[in-house]
Amino acid sequence: MRVVVVGLGVMGLPTVRALAERGHEVIGIDRHGISAPAGSSAGMTRIFRLAHDRPGDIVLAKKALERWRELEAMSGETLIDQVGLVLRGEPVSEWVAALRDADVPVEELTPADRERVFPELAHRPDEPAAFVPEDGMLFAAKGLAAVAAAARKAGAELSTPERMLAVEETPSGVRVTTDQRVLEADLAVLAVGPWAQSLLEPLGLRLPLAPAIGQVSYWRGGAWERRPSLIDFVADGKLGVYGLPTPGKGYKIGLDYGSEEAWDTEAAAWPPRAFEEECNRDWVLAHAPGLATDGPHLTEGCPWTMTPDGEYFIDRRGAITVATGCSGHAFKFMPIMGELIADIAEGRPAWPEADIFRLDRMPPDAPFDLVETPMGPRIGL
Ligand SMILES: Cc1cc2nc3c(=O)[nH]c(=O)nc-3n(C[C@H](O)[C@H](O)[C@H](O)COP(=O)(O)OP(=O)(O)OC[C@H]3O[C@@H](n4cnc5c(N)ncnc54)[C@H](O)[C@@H]3O)c2cc1C
Repeated sequence: MRVVVVGLGVMGLPTVRALAERGHEVIGIDRHGISAPAGSSAGMTRIFRLAHDRPGDIVLAKKALERWRELEAMSGETLIDQVGLVLRGEPVSEWVAALRDADVPVEELTPADRERVFPELAHRPDEPAAFVPEDGMLFAAKGLAAVAAAARKAGAELSTPERMLAVEETPSGVRVTTDQRVLEADLAVLAVGPWAQSLLEPLGLRLPLAPAIGQVSYWRGGAWERRPSLIDFVADGKLGVYGLPTPGKGYKIGLDYGSEEAWDTEAAAWPPRAFEEECNRDWVLAHAPGLATDGPHLTEGCPWTMTPDGEYFIDRRGAITVATGCSGHAFKFMPIMGELIADIAEGRPAWPEADIFRLDRMPPDAPFDLVETPMGPRIGL
C-alpha cells in the first residue's frame, strides 16, 4: 500500500519506519522538520522510565526498552542511559506496588538512602520515595536521527519542510494536499502533535486536546551529571516536577504544567518566558538547593498536548489514522509507537494495552482537571 504520514515527531517518524519495513511505499512529510524547535519532540534528552502506575504502561515500557536497545545496536549510538529514577511524593506507594507486580526492580528509600542517591535534593522525610535503577534518560534527538536513518534505509521518503494543507478521503483512499504537491494514497496517518485540533476538525473529528508550552531550565550545582532522573509528585503541595541529567547542558528541571502563552499554530520556536523561569527557580531553591549554583544556565520551551485523562489518542477512522495527544510522556515509547500505530493503520488487531487510546473513549467536550499553580489554574500532566 501507499501511505502518507504527516508529522515526523515521536509518533509519526517511527510509524514511517515500521510501515516501510513492512514493505509499504511510505512518504513522510513535516512542515518544520525532524527535532525542529516548534514541535513536541525537540530537544536533546527525555526521561526513560519503566515506572508507571498503570500495568499496561509498564508492559509498553518494557517492550520499548528492548526496542531502544535494538536501535542502539543498529545505529551504533548510545540512546538510553540507565542512571535510575527517583520517585517521591504520596503516589509512590502505588507505583512501587505496580512495579513489583510487574517484576521491575524498585527500592524504597529511607532518608539516609535519599541523601546517598541524590544529596542535592532537600529531602522530605515524611513522604515516601523510591528508586528505580533500570530507569534513566534517553537521547531524544539522536534517537529520532536513528529512526530516520532506518526509515530511509527501508525505502521511505522523508520530505521536510513540506506542509499538509488538507486531507480528504476519496473512493480509493486518501488525498493529501501539501504546499508542494497532491499525494494520492491508500492510507494516511496524521501524527501532527499540538497542531491536531485545527487539522482534524475539517474531517469532522473533534477531540479534547489542550496544547500548551512546557518550559525547562538547566542547573549545574553539585554532582548533577551523576544524578538519577527525578519525578517529584508534589511541588509545594500542588503539581509535579521532573528532572534529568542532560550531558553538556546541566540537570534539566521542568514543572509539570503548561505556560500562560496561548498555542500559536504558526510559531517556529518557543522562547523562554521570564515568569516561568522564576517559578522554576523558586522550586529549585526550595526543593533541590544543591542543584542551584548561579543558574539556570539555559531555559527552553517546547509544546505538548494534554488530554483529559493523560492518555494518547491513537485510532483509525476510515483510511485515516490519528495519533496525537502526547500528554507529555510519549518519548519513552518512541520505538514501539511506530509498531503500534502501523498495526492500527493496517487494520490489525489493536494491542490490549492500547485500548485506552481509542478516540471514542470520551466526548469531545470532556472536561480537564485544573490545578492551582503559581501562574493560575493549569492542566497538570
Ligand atoms: C517540555 C517537555 C518535556 C517532556 N519530557 C518527556 C519525558 O521526560 N519523557 C517522555 O517520554 N516524554 C516527554 N515529553 C513528551 C514527548 O516529547 C512528546 O510526547 C512527543 O515528543 C510527542 O510527539 P508527537 O509526534 O505527538 O508531536 P510532535 O513532535 O510535535 O510532532 C508533530 C509534527 O507534526 C508536524 N506538523 C504539524 N502540522 C503539520 C502539517 N500541517 N503538515 C506537516 N507537518 C505538520 C510538526 O512540524 C511536528 O514535527 C516531554 C514533552 C515536553 C514538551
